[in-house]
Parts: sequence; C-alpha cells; structure tokens
Amino acid sequence: MKDTTFNHLIEELKKFPGVGQKTAQRLAFFLLKATADEAKAIAQAIIDVKDKIHFCSICNNVTEDDPCWICSDANRDRKKILVVKEPGTLYTIERTGGYKGLYHVMLGAISPLDGIGPDDIKIAGLLKRVDQDGIEEVILALDPDMAGEATSMYLTRLLKPFEVHVTRIAYGIPVGSDIEYADELTLVKSLEGRRDFNPPSSK
Ligand SMILES: [Zn+2]
Repeated sequence: MKDTTFNHLIEELKKFPGVGQKTAQRLAFFLLKATADEAKAIAQAIIDVKDKIHFCSICNNVTEDDPCWICSDANRDRKKILVVKEPGTLYTIERTGGYKGLYHVMLGAISPLDGIGPDDIKIAGLLKRVDQDGIEEVILALDPDMAGEATSMYLTRLLKPFEVHVTRIAYGIPVGSDIEYADELTLVKSLEGRRDFNPPSSK
C-alpha cells in the first residue's frame, strides 16, 4: 500500500492492547471521518496523559498530583495497605467502593522467566512504609498466577520481621486471569474473604 500516512496511523493504533488489524483500520477510518477538532482533542488527551500524569512517590499510583488523591486523603484507613501489581487494579478496586485503606502499586511482579527480579518492582518503598507509617495490615491482591504467587511469597517473607498482619484476598477470581478485569462483586467478595497467607517455608 502506498498511502503511508494512513497506514502509519493503522500501525500505531495496532500498538494498543487488544487492537488488531481490523480494529485499527476501523479506528483509523473513524479518525479520518472525524472533524479536525475532534481528532486533535483525542491526540491532545494522549499528549496530556504523558505530560501531566506521573507515578505517586508514595504508592506508585498514576496521578497528576504528588502524593496522589488516595495517599493525601485523611479520611482513609491509614493502617491498611492493599498491594496490587498495576494502577489499573487500584482503579478497579476503587470503583467497587468496598475498600477504604491505602494502596501500594508494585508496578510489576517477580518473574524470573521474563527477567523480572525483586529489584525491578517497588518493594523497597513498601517496606519503608510498613516500617515508618504504623501500618497494621498488608493485604496482598496480586494476580493468582505464577508471578503473582512468587511475589506474594517473597513479600510475606520480607514483611515477617515487621510484625505486620499479612493477609491476601480470597480466590474468588478465576485462576490465571487479570484482577484488573474481574467484575466488581467478585472483587468485593474476594476482599471480604481475605485470610492469613502462610506460604510453605523455603526449607
Ligand atoms: Zn499515592
């Protein structure tokens, strides 16, 4: 195909998760038919998100202000930290309205096969918060897959000396799926049914 500008747009759109050739083509034609103002508003929103949104220096949530609106909310239960892998999961849990504590976003999970080790995720910040902020409970809400399990076990071991109550959400979520995409009721039930987490000892 010769029309490089149009094809370039299709190639860029294909970089979105879940977007293949067919969808990319449909979106490209949509943008082509849109007014210049409409198309520019979409482009500007993408530019703004990269310019203005950062990771919270406390919990690694995505935010325009630092600390984020959750870390700076005095009405939340500041003795609980819910540990999630990605900011998207935080948003999903927030939408349920069933949790009023704080969060810690790991921005990844330990997965040696993918070359992701403990130093590649936000562990140090979590330990510092548990050590200094009077945290009484750490709730692990990582994905029930291999990387999530490995990360949960690793964190539990590191948290032991702090005498903090470590719990994990119950399995109400299908094994091998993303917590981010679970329905709200399943998430609320999983949170309610959380229990102590005792991984098998390494010896
Ligand atoms: Zn925050």
